Amino acid sequence: MFRLSFFTGGIAQTNGWLLETDSAAVVFDAPEGMADWLASRDPVRASALVLTHQHFDHVLDAARIRAAYGCPVFAFAPFSRDLTLERLWGAVTGSSLAVEAFEVDEVLEGRDAVTIGGLDWQVLHIPGHSPDSICLHQAALRIVFGGDVLFLDGIGRTDFPGGSTEMLLSGIEARLLNLPDDTRVFPGHGDATTIGRERLENPFLQDGGW
Ligand SMILES: [Zn+2]
Repeated sequence: MFRLSFFTGGIAQTNGWLLETDSAAVVFDAPEGMADWLASRDPVRASALVLTHQHFDHVLDAARIRAAYGCPVFAFAPFSRDLTLERLWGAVTGSSLAVEAFEVDEVLEGRDAVTIGGLDWQVLHIPGHSPDSICLHQAALRIVFGGDVLFLDGIGRTDFPGGSTEMLLSGIEARLLNLPDDTRVFPGHGDATTIGRERLENPFLQDGGW
């Protein structure tokens, strides 16, 4: 019914996911190196690029992917240097990292649902790691592309500008933990997991665990 593959790259070992159906190839996040990886999978052609949030490690190849395939970019907010945190990163590391600006064709703020690649997705806005973090849930396939919200045994870090541990945990509880246990979660870093596994085992989600 669908095929899933992924690339991991860049300074933060960020995952980019490729979901292929009979009629579409949807890319979730664009870490550094993702564009070359996609090109190596020719004749696959990205039909959409979805950004779970705009931190630099998730968007460094967004402009290249959009240009290479002419595919629309979906994100919670329009492109913003404040959201990418590249300046913060530069100040901390002394690097001159610069994210190439890109157009966001479909702004998802205020939308609960969106059709991408012929599939209906629920848009779950869960701020706390970043103000613009979204998880994309496909109910029939029981899959979530989670970005940096929920990890295997972890949650997104909340020490960046606009971060909030309280908001992140309440958002995970209200929007993710109510999904079926066998819903698979494909995160922005590390290994895939399931909602049921994290509800039971994730140390951040246990009573009194935080
Ligand atoms: Zn992030």
